[in-house]
Order: sequence, then structure tokens, then C-alpha cells
Amino acid sequence: MTKITIAIDGFSSTGKSTIAKRLARALGYVYVDSGAMYRAVTLYAMQNSFIGKDGFDKAGLIASLDHIKLNFQFNQELGFAEVHLNGVNVEKDIRTLKVSSFVSQIATVSEVREKLVEQQQLLGKDKGVVMDGRDIGTVVFPEAELKIFMIASAEKRAQRRYDELIGRGDDVRFEDVLTNVQTRDHIDSTREDSPLIMAHDAIEIDNSEMTLNEQFELVLQLAEDKIKLSS
Ligand code: C5P
Repeated sequence: MTKITIAIDGFSSTGKSTIAKRLARALGYVYVDSGAMYRAVTLYAMQNSFIGKDGFDKAGLIASLDHIKLNFQFNQELGFAEVHLNGVNVEKDIRTLKVSSFVSQIATVSEVREKLVEQQQLLGKDKGVVMDGRDIGTVVFPEAELKIFMIASAEKRAQRRYDELIGRGDDVRFEDVLTNVQTRDHIDSTREDSPLIMAHDAIEIDNSEMTLNEQFELVLQLAEDKIKLSS
């Protein structure tokens, strides 16, 4: 059967990755979490003191980009590929509120975007991929057969992220998570390079009041229709 490219973009914590993972599994496609790549570069910047309390050494990070090697390794138990930074599994370390608070700033740097977009395009060159992020339908795969744009209210999204962080034992306040979600939305939507905007041919899904199963059934149906059309 013909394989297609599926781009799932949208605001922070809209549940893109949960749906993208399930969809990829159902279709036998590769799932790529592009946000994990920006988060891993952010972690690298934090570990190497390019970002922190004293500000952001953008030139230093750009000069070090060649030392950052990212790759995904499939975890059988979890059923998806985890991101590795220079050979180390950083899947857990990149999900902290601290990384979340710096990542959108790192994602404004064009040199970072150029490097990651190139790798993302390589990962999806054979199609049969579900990739989620902010610019997948607009920049990474403008020719993607199916583009989804997920939205939900900021409060709903912050609640979901808060539950997730509390669930894994992080000590966070709801207000801080909400502020982070809103700040990232703002930076992501207003940056100059590849801002978060809906592609003209994307399908918008507001999942504020939808269950996971409802979202999954809808997206799966859309994907199956596109696959039929492309065959
Ligand atoms: O998807 P996630 O919330 O993990 O993404 C973290 C951050 O990475 C986003 O807030 C955004 O700043 C950046 N990002 C991006 N382009 C992508 C994916 C993520 O700029 N394709």
C-alpha cells in the first residue's frame, strides 16, 4: 500500500505526540517527535553552560552545533523511539519544566532549525512517517499528504501537562505550567523563522472536549482516506 507523510502540528501540550504515536503504530509508520530534538539541543545548551541564569550564549551554541549528535532508538517496551543526545538516552531529562522554559528560545535560532530540519527531512525521506511539531506541515514537509493542526484551550493543555509532570513525580505548580505553555505559544507563534502557523491545507482539530479515543478515531479515518486517495 502507498505510504504517505503525516504532519501533526499545533500548540504546546495539545496531545500531538500521544495521537501521533498511536497513529504511527496503527499504520506501521515511523513516529518522529521533532520537539524532542529541540529539547535535546536545549539540554545540551544547559549542560554546556550556553544557557542559564546569566542569559544565552547564542554564538557559543551555534559554534558547537557540530558536536551535537541526535538519534532515535526504538524502545520495544514503550513502543516508540527515544531520543539520544551524543549516545545518551535523554528522553526523561528533556521533559522537565526547566528544559521547557528554555526550549522556545533555542528554537528561534535559525542555525539550530536548519540542522534539525535537515535531519527531520532525512528521517522522512521514504514517507511512511508521522512527525509532530510546529513547522512540519509548513517547512519540513510542505508536500505532506495529510496535515493536522491541533488546538485546545491553554487551561486544558496546562492541566494535561501538569498531570503528566505530577504523575512522574516532578514538584511543579499549576500556575508555572500554565505560564510556560502560554509563553511558549507566544514565542513559537511570533518568531521570525518558521513561526507556528497552520498550513493552508491543514485540517484543524480542537480537542478541548474530545477524548483520546475520539481524536484517534478521527485522525485514523483521515489518514486512511488519504492513503486510499494516494494509492
Ligand atoms: O513539542 P514540544 O512541546 O516538545 O516542543 C518543544 C518546543 O520545541 C516548542 O515549544 C517549540 O519551541 C520547539 N519546536 C519547534 N519546532 C518543532 C518542534 C518543536 O520550534 N517542529
